[in-house]
Amino acid sequence: MRRRVHSCFTSRESSKALGPAVVCLSLLASCSSPHAAYEAERRRMVVDQIEARGVGEPRVLSALREVPRHLFVPPSEKANAYEDRPFPIGYGQTISQPYIVALMTELARPEPGDRALEVGTGSGYQAAILGRLVREVYTVEIIEPLGREAGLRLDGLGFSNVFVKVGDGYRGWPEAAPFDIILVTAAPEKVPPPLIDQLKPGGRMVIPVGAVSDVQSLQLIQKDAAGRIESRNVLPVRFVPLTRSP
Ligand code: SAH
Repeated sequence: MRRRVHSCFTSRESSKALGPAVVCLSLLASCSSPHAAYEAERRRMVVDQIEARGVGEPRVLSALREVPRHLFVPPSEKANAYEDRPFPIGYGQTISQPYIVALMTELARPEPGDRALEVGTGSGYQAAILGRLVREVYTVEIIEPLGREAGLRLDGLGFSNVFVKVGDGYRGWPEAAPFDIILVTAAPEKVPPPLIDQLKPGGRMVIPVGAVSDVQSLQLIQKDAAGRIESRNVLPVRFVPLTRSP
């Protein structure tokens, strides 16, 4: 996304440049722009849902304030997009709760020069957040229409550093590997070995692991410079299952 969404409190010049949709009546009046209203909701979401639960990394918080989550949920859910919960996005899948997106992103410690893999594109929201924080994002979705829609959405919003592929993310994205960061947003019963292989020394993977019927454990898996793996359980979570293509 090249252009930032401006708030009510932009200067006259920039309000003019953006056109009538974001012009405010006065600094004290409430702003009639839907963009400004959504921006205010995002700020509230970050304070009440994210910072309040202990995610504090400034770059991660900025990305959550910038990416228009309401454009990643079904049109009928736009007005609810900033609520503290996941939403159905069709095909039995969900866009994760904002806090979980924020937590997984912070745990991955994104750096501007990093290359990231996401397994489970879904709506493309998590990929967009990563796209604001790292150099390149490779994201794989197994349900073809979801992957196609997410690709169009991300292109339309100008995320030129996010690449979407339809396929089985259990196998990772070997042609683009290795990755500094791997985020998995669907739960396998065990960590897929190809993903461990595709993690760089020094890399971080965040992945929910466990049986579909149960709560899963969100794990942070780190590969040290010598290639040794260390994992820790962060939080019980509930994700949709990682499915496999035949
Ligand atoms: N990250 C998403 C939410 C993902 S929900 C977002 O921000 O909206 C989990 C997604 O993982 C679903 O879309 C599901 O179809 C997908 N998925 C499940 N198994 C997969 C697999 N093996 N490879 C790629 N995607 C998979």
